[in-house]
Amino acid sequence: MDRIKAFINGSFKTSDGDVLVKINPVNGRPIAEVEKTTDTLLQDAIEAAKIAQHDWSSLTGQERGQIMAKVSKKLADSLHELTRLEVKDVGKVWSEAFSSDVPCGAEAYEFFGSLAATITGTSHKWTNARGYAERVPLGICAGIGAWNYPTQIACWKSAPALAMGNAFILKPSEMTPYTANAIAEIVTEAGLPAGLFQVVHGDFSVGQALCKHPDIAKISLTGGLETGKKIMSQSASTLKKVTLELGGKAPLIVFSDADFDLAVQTAIDANFYTAGEVCSNATRVFIQDKIANKFIEAVKEKAEKLKVGDPMLEDTQIGAMISEQHLEKVLSYIAIGKSEGANLVTGGERQFPKNCEGGFFISPAIFSNCEDDMQIVREEIFGPVMAVLSFDNEEEVICRANNTQYGLGAGVLTSDLSRAYRVADKLDAGNIWINSYNLIPPDWPFGGVKQSGFGRESSIYALESYSQIKSTYVQY
Ligand code: NAD
Repeated sequence: MDRIKAFINGSFKTSDGDVLVKINPVNGRPIAEVEKTTDTLLQDAIEAAKIAQHDWSSLTGQERGQIMAKVSKKLADSLHELTRLEVKDVGKVWSEAFSSDVPCGAEAYEFFGSLAATITGTSHKWTNARGYAERVPLGICAGIGAWNYPTQIACWKSAPALAMGNAFILKPSEMTPYTANAIAEIVTEAGLPAGLFQVVHGDFSVGQALCKHPDIAKISLTGGLETGKKIMSQSASTLKKVTLELGGKAPLIVFSDADFDLAVQTAIDANFYTAGEVCSNATRVFIQDKIANKFIEAVKEKAEKLKVGDPMLEDTQIGAMISEQHLEKVLSYIAIGKSEGANLVTGGERQFPKNCEGGFFISPAIFSNCEDDMQIVREEIFGPVMAVLSFDNEEEVICRANNTQYGLGAGVLTSDLSRAYRVADKLDAGNIWINSYNLIPPDWPFGGVKQSGFGRESSIYALESYSQIKSTYVQY
């Protein structure tokens, strides 16, 4: 059994506190004991971060960028090892982690490293006075992660924080502790000074300790809505800046003039990628009446061909759910959908793939005959469950698509570009994709509106959220 320790000031440190057990989602067996970071160790991390951040923020942006470029290269060189750990952490398929999760972590360091030298402010001129306003770092920033994209979350949060001159402390989800430690080692070996990227481990209580610590200036959470509310209130007593990347129940609107094959494939990808454990997934698929039956037949056929099983096998397309508890939650939503009167077209059954019989697998599920007020249509399931709804006209579907507390993503598929822009303008979501879905390059802002959160990951906007404005007035 592996032993997972905190990474403090450049090396792994033993905690004498409680131990959490990490279960392998692929076979249901315990694979690691995760040492919950004690308050004493957290304080060591804070002290190390203070010293490291002082020196780091004194470097020029270009100097920080040069080190981050080396980190990016080393992350890219560690593709196989990080992919192996991402699969071990999450149970997601090898091909996804290899082609997407790990490369996009390296890209984040490349992108924000190259931006570091371009951070500038503004200057002002009055009679007999001048002023300049600069973007300066916040100090020590902490990231609290969800379990579905541990490599990506670690890099998306740390890269802008570091580029801006902050120190960064990560608390990954207690269910996915492996990749965080590997990334901490990689960034250190690549030349990032000790104390700038540290990892603490544990459940919500360690997250609470981060929120309450007076020397931490900012918390960036990726997690569920209820956790987001708690993080805000826990961070209030020290007036921390908070970024919240929360859940969603995104709509995908397919007009009858859309490229049919593209629409079918987009709906499949937007629901079943990472076994449906994606915050921005478009789980409410609105199909214009005329093509609804044909569309349902086509997505059913494709979904039934998706291979569920051992994520390490090259041809597997759907890996494991993160935990037995989560699998049970998803299965309970399948039962709820049936009892609400939705028609289960296919899937929704626990699977016991060869050599992974103890793992947490489920076949991709599609419900038709869904209504807007059904629980499976309103609530985030966070598993491979697509709800298909039909609509008649543009005005109606915009109104129904917006009828949710969430606002993370939304998709529009149509061959009429005027309509695409018109509909996109009226959709309440942080990220809208037209004739595509879930594409997030590093130079493009990602984040939610309404109760999907606030603040942005990636792009120049992420840099802004890890900085504050300092203005200096100079009297002649
Ligand atoms: P979660 O909210 O249960 O946990 C997220 C993290 O918060 C974990 O590290 C957990 O230990 C910590 N935490 C829990 N309670 C806390 C508290 N009171 N104080 C401090 N920390 C606390 O979420 P999860 O189950 O890990 O992930 C699934 C959720 O994350 C889904 O709702 C999903 O939509 C969301 N998510 C959002 C995005 C995004 O970018 N918007 C991306 C991935 C996942």
